[in-house]
Amino acid sequence: IMTISADILRDLTDAQLEAVTHRQGPMLVVAGAGSGKTRVVTRRIAYLIAQGTRPDQILAMTFTNKAANEMKERVATLVGIAPRNVGTFHSCCARFLRQDIERLKDGRNRQYTIYDSSDQNTLLKHCLKDLNLRSSDCSPNDVAQVISRAKTQRQDIVEYIHNQCRYDADTYEKVAIAYETRLRQQNAVDFDDLLLLTAKILSEYPIVREMYQTRFKYLLIDEYQDTNHLQYDLMKLLCGEEQNVHATGDPDQSIYSWRGADYTNIMNFTSDFPDARIVRLEQNYRSTQCIIHAANELIHQNAFRLDKDLFTENEIGSPIRVISVPDEASEALWLCRRISELCTEGHSLRDMAVFYRTNGQSRSLEDGFMRMGIPYQVVGNLRFYDRKEIKDLLAFLRLKCNPADLVSLQRVVTCLNCGVGPKNLAALVATAEQHAMPVFDLLCRDDFAALFGKNPAWAQHFCQWCRALRALPDQPVDEVIAAVLEHSGLMQNIIAKDDNADDRVENIHELLAQVKSFVTNHGDCTLIDYLQEVSLISDLDTYDSEADYVSLMTLHCAKGLEFPFVFITGVEEGYLPHQHSVNTANGIEEERRLFYVGLTRAKAEVTVLFARGRFTWTGSDQREPSRFLAELPEEVVQQQIFKHRQAPPNHRRGANHFGYSS
Ligand code: ATP
Ligand code: MG
Repeated sequence: IMTISADILRDLTDAQLEAVTHRQGPMLVVAGAGSGKTRVVTRRIAYLIAQGTRPDQILAMTFTNKAANEMKERVATLVGIAPRNVGTFHSCCARFLRQDIERLKDGRNRQYTIYDSSDQNTLLKHCLKDLNLRSSDCSPNDVAQVISRAKTQRQDIVEYIHNQCRYDADTYEKVAIAYETRLRQQNAVDFDDLLLLTAKILSEYPIVREMYQTRFKYLLIDEYQDTNHLQYDLMKLLCGEEQNVHATGDPDQSIYSWRGADYTNIMNFTSDFPDARIVRLEQNYRSTQCIIHAANELIHQNAFRLDKDLFTENEIGSPIRVISVPDEASEALWLCRRISELCTEGHSLRDMAVFYRTNGQSRSLEDGFMRMGIPYQVVGNLRFYDRKEIKDLLAFLRLKCNPADLVSLQRVVTCLNCGVGPKNLAALVATAEQHAMPVFDLLCRDDFAALFGKNPAWAQHFCQWCRALRALPDQPVDEVIAAVLEHSGLMQNIIAKDDNADDRVENIHELLAQVKSFVTNHGDCTLIDYLQEVSLISDLDTYDSEADYVSLMTLHCAKGLEFPFVFITGVEEGYLPHQHSVNTANGIEEERRLFYVGLTRAKAEVTVLFARGRFTWTGSDQREPSRFLAELPEEVVQQQIFKHRQAPPNHRRGANHFGYSS
């Protein structure tokens, strides 16, 4: 047992201290924004380790990989050991399935591939084709959503589809069944399967369940308000008789119900664990008094909530600025000027964040930032790993690991342009099925021609190419990837044909550099480990807190983060609340929570902007300020009207003249 270093318990309030040092049994920490929930989770992990708990006996779940990595680093600084099992539900389940998926006996094995939403889309299109359907008969996105809903609610997909009373339920059923069959045949799982199959194994195999319950003596969950039904079940399955489960959340920040999150999980906690100790943290350490007052008043408008208090002893701070601008261009202009002003005052760009409701709203802001030459990063845009050249390279690697992965095989065949068209591919699949082997195995066979029944010209070269891919070594990962890249001819292809060759080549170099650092950090990992890590990196993980950029992101992305200066743009009816949500009371309340999340990210200053008009695809559109603005208490709001219309390019005014009047 180590001595508890003073750092582990430093700067904790009594309530926080109780939550950190709680010994045995279930605990629920319900607390408002910025009250130290994440700090409590981190310190508790360190505390348990310092008390003699082995790091691998702790399982901690957070919302993003980035948050998990930060947590690991902080724990490592406190106790010198980085606990392994800190991650998202998805990454923890992915690791679990690497061990235990074969128990399901559904044809899948440990080499399984994780299909992300674009792979899922490709697969669904294959299914539609098999069934002679078109995307117009049945949209792949819609089916994907229905399948996902059924899975996160742990319902039988077919039953779920029919319960929805869709007029096209029969079509949906066919596509969903084809999709599930193909996933199994291709030894692949989608994101929801990671959780669903883990829950299935844990429910059906008491031996496995007990093994994991014994292994993980302590279970911790941050951002508990955004867990869905399936995650809730997993939590219950994982916590053993001792029920050392520690859940931390803020029901007022539940913003993912559209993805199946259910903040009543917070209410259920106390009925499922009647002995649960409940701790409330009421002091906010992040924001000024003005911000907390505004946030409190706003969220009090929600009827469906657990009442709780939040106060701060931080300074009063400046009022919330509400800026009315004529249109989107002036919104961007106002922002750029204010940001330059803050820079002149000595603040760094990384201390500023701009939030909006929907991804599309970033475009006009980006135009402005580019024109004014202000460095920015858009968080949650196209993932690095979604870029075409990166997906191409990953497809080669995935095929090498999982010979049944048809989505990747198809991509590889397209990249190689090796004469294997859709007809040939279908023939290959049929032959492989006949001989009960994965397609790539068939291609690698010495007796391919005999099995396939013919020996077309493309096969001679392509089969040889496949055997050579298979023969490349599997480790170390960085060398494999370099070798596969070489063998794929991808680089030459890009240079010869691509308009954006420079960017694409640079991205591949970037990937190679990342692989190097991955290998350095993870020691003797396998190619499968690497691919798994990459498939689980979500768009929320792209935020770089070190780089000196202004961050632009949706309000959903902003969860858990904090910045000295926060700008919330487009606070208008239709955006916030979003027009999709205005028809139900629940919808409005969730939008209000989203605004609450936005406000409470700020340490020093919040500025809220709304445009009186915007150009939309239908022409120019009059906008109304959001109803939420009227709910902010007058005494902490300062309104300004920015009259300036769009400035001509490169037109500059004096640094202290901003063209608005109060
Ligand atoms: P959110 O609801 O946004 O997830 P949270 O409840 O997880 O917030 P933290 O992020 O843990 O809150 O803490 C908010 C800020 O307050 C952080 O900067 C943290 O370092 C600081 N903080 C938390 N507790 C204390 C304390 N007792 N003394 C000083 N600072 C604290
Ligand atoms: Mg937090």
